[in-house]
Amino acid sequence: MGTIIDLRSDTVTSPSKAMLEAMTSAATGDDVYGEDPTVNALEEYAAELTKKEKALFVTSGTQGNLTSILSHCGRGDEYIAGSDAHTYRYEAGGAAVLGSVQPQPVPFNSRGEIPLDLAQEAIKPLDHHFAKTKLLCLENTKAGKVLSLEYLSRARQFTKKTGLSLHLDGARAFNAAVKLDVPISEITRHVDSCSLCLSKGLGAPMGSVLVGDASLIESARKWRKMLGGGMRQAGIMAAAGLFALKNHVTDLSKDHEKAVLCWEGLRNLKTINLQGEPQTNMVVLQASAKILAELQRFLKEHGVLISSERLVFHRDVPIESSAYLVELFETFDASR
Ligand SMILES: *Cc1c(COP(=O)(O)O)cnc(C)c1O
Repeated sequence: MGTIIDLRSDTVTSPSKAMLEAMTSAATGDDVYGEDPTVNALEEYAAELTKKEKALFVTSGTQGNLTSILSHCGRGDEYIAGSDAHTYRYEAGGAAVLGSVQPQPVPFNSRGEIPLDLAQEAIKPLDHHFAKTKLLCLENTKAGKVLSLEYLSRARQFTKKTGLSLHLDGARAFNAAVKLDVPISEITRHVDSCSLCLSKGLGAPMGSVLVGDASLIESARKWRKMLGGGMRQAGIMAAAGLFALKNHVTDLSKDHEKAVLCWEGLRNLKTINLQGEPQTNMVVLQASAKILAELQRFLKEHGVLISSERLVFHRDVPIESSAYLVELFETFDASR
């Protein structure tokens, strides 16, 4: 069957040889004592890139979001999030379970924004009937869609006016920055905190960084310890993240090119429609659940893995595989 093309997610990327070398030569110490020089270097570099006071290396994006929400909100508070936001649907209810913080879902619009008029309506009055609304959580990219800087700026003004904090689930915010051709700090300047995945398109084996001001990060550090995320000689992993931040960010544009190339090739299928032109590294298919299941099975027989309707491009997908992918889709389409 040859090599597998894995489009299920950009989390599947493996560390390159150069990244592995950076890991094996990393200086280490005990990070719970604050003594791992490579973790400290990663945190300093992430803070500098995002122009925030401090950063915290966390085990996953979920831990970055959770430590942030628990730091912004207390027991009985709530956060506003998109109704299919990662922070609402895909993090096992962590904020509610561990922090007694309730989510208030609001539907995303087609641009992946939380409409600010709906967010306004969702804010609870200050009255003993209600949870206290403390935080707005946005997501960028949202299923591959990039939030405009204009929207982020309006969201910032909105949270200032309403006294909320603003957290960005920036699992793929570097994809957004590369697409907009701006430094990541042009995105993070609009938010109080942001979690950034190192383990997706950037290609590190694990980890995220949470960035924010010093008091938020101090609080997140305590939550991280409580969650069992205080790591010791974590410099080996931080070295991969630091390598990724220094060497892999601009490469994300190649993943965006691969997605567009694939999208162009798939535009004229009979059985499968596509959402609009990809903004970043995802092509989103629109077809019945039955067709998608058949497609998934067919592609798997030919060495291509997909998870339902998303094709996610990343650094371990060679650009030449686009032609093969298009051919496979055409064969599938013709057989229906
Ligand atoms: C992947 C992802 C996360 C974090 O996921 P982990 O698997 O916990 O690292 C958070 N938000 C979004 C939108 C994601 O896609």
